[in-house]
Amino acid sequence: MYYLLPFRFERIDNKEIIVNEAGDFWVAETNTVDRIVNRKISPDEELYKDLLSSFIISEQPIPDLIDNYATRLRTKKSFLDGFTSLHIFVLTIRCNQNCIYCQASSRECSASIYDSKKEYLASAIDLMFKSPSPSLTMEFQGGEPSLVPDLLQYAIEETERKNIEYKKQIIYVLCTNSIYLTDQLIEICNKYSVLISTSLDGPEFLHNHNRGKTDSYQKVIKGIAKARTMLGADRVSALMTTSEYSLNYPEEIIDSYLHNGFQSIFLRPLNPYGLAIDTSDWNMYFDRFIEFYKTALDYIINLNKKGTFIIEELTALILRKILTPFPVGFVDLQSPAGIINSVIVYNYDGYVYASDESRMLAEYNDFTFRLGSVFDRYEDIFYGKKSQDLAQVWATEFIAGCADCAFQSYCGADPVRNYSTQKDPYGFRPTSSFCKKHKAIISHIIKLITERENEVLPVFKEWLKRNEG
Ligand code: SF4
Repeated sequence: MYYLLPFRFERIDNKEIIVNEAGDFWVAETNTVDRIVNRKISPDEELYKDLLSSFIISEQPIPDLIDNYATRLRTKKSFLDGFTSLHIFVLTIRCNQNCIYCQASSRECSASIYDSKKEYLASAIDLMFKSPSPSLTMEFQGGEPSLVPDLLQYAIEETERKNIEYKKQIIYVLCTNSIYLTDQLIEICNKYSVLISTSLDGPEFLHNHNRGKTDSYQKVIKGIAKARTMLGADRVSALMTTSEYSLNYPEEIIDSYLHNGFQSIFLRPLNPYGLAIDTSDWNMYFDRFIEFYKTALDYIINLNKKGTFIIEELTALILRKILTPFPVGFVDLQSPAGIINSVIVYNYDGYVYASDESRMLAEYNDFTFRLGSVFDRYEDIFYGKKSQDLAQVWATEFIAGCADCAFQSYCGADPVRNYSTQKDPYGFRPTSSFCKKHKAIISHIIKLITERENEVLPVFKEWLKRNEG
């Protein structure tokens, strides 16, 4: 007779994937779960010992090593230790591009009423320093923040001045399309070790199509080259967004990243915010995205096998959750959710939002996730009524569907996404595109690890090693 410990399971093809509370997974034959719960596993079986050591069953009501198990769970949740560490400053929503999927609701280049004000930035920086986190990431976004270098300089200098007292570790990130990296801007980035996060959607014809411009690609490539030369290659990274058009070109996109000297790519789908909300059929889009992801990942694995090192970052994040005891600082795959716990947004107009997506909803006059203004008290914003209401729905451990999903510890909760797509922050998993995408991708990765272990694990382990380094 043995006791059952909490575990969840999922059937994939003819196997059962059993996952314990700490996220360790076990692949078993069909009917294993039935045998476990009906106490049919005999102590003579090898499986019995495996289940014991995996904290799926126990010979005592409380296992002897429960404290070790608790430590592992606490380590997985240690991303919560410092509370909000990513502070996004939207310096302007003006932009010099015209992306077909724009999620930031950008305005035309000359309309300076869409720039932030110095007094907003100063108050937002005060709020940022109230965060208990000893290390902060200050990310500058737009629109296109390179259009307002004076505001960027002011925000950084103000932060440096105040940090003499707070002594926090601060990382600066400039999210830019790299079209307008002037000498003034590069000088600021050099002086304050600002990291450049740029966007590159793939080869020239595709990138230009997505940007709504004919010359964007050449300018971006020139901007990336300039930033690499002046700041160092390791200070420049790129992100891609998969438009409907991009779905046709997985291999071409990866080749263009390699061609432009990148050793990693993040296959990012569209999010249903901003202009991207008009994309006709989200279900069809996500079905196609999942196929795109699988094709692209296969191509990337093959490249690695042939000696070309390139990481797919979403896979690497999920692998870290599946194969290591460590937490992942990726706000989309967190429970409790990334909003407020890990990220906060100070908008150009002086209001504070729960996440980047929340402020995008506000551009369409939906202020559901506006937490207050930069002049409000820290406590009222971060612990106020709206934050408390969101806390009721922001963890996979207790929302319906996720609470008994085998992939709970690899996935995340996203009330803003639920609200945006289903008009309800709680969300409904059976029709959720977020759920569909994550379930498909996590299942696929587990299948790769179990069915093609010898082929993919050496590649995946290299990725994990590189990301730890
Ligand atoms: S969103 Fe879906 S895949 Fe993720 S934990 Fe919830 S039910 Fe599972």
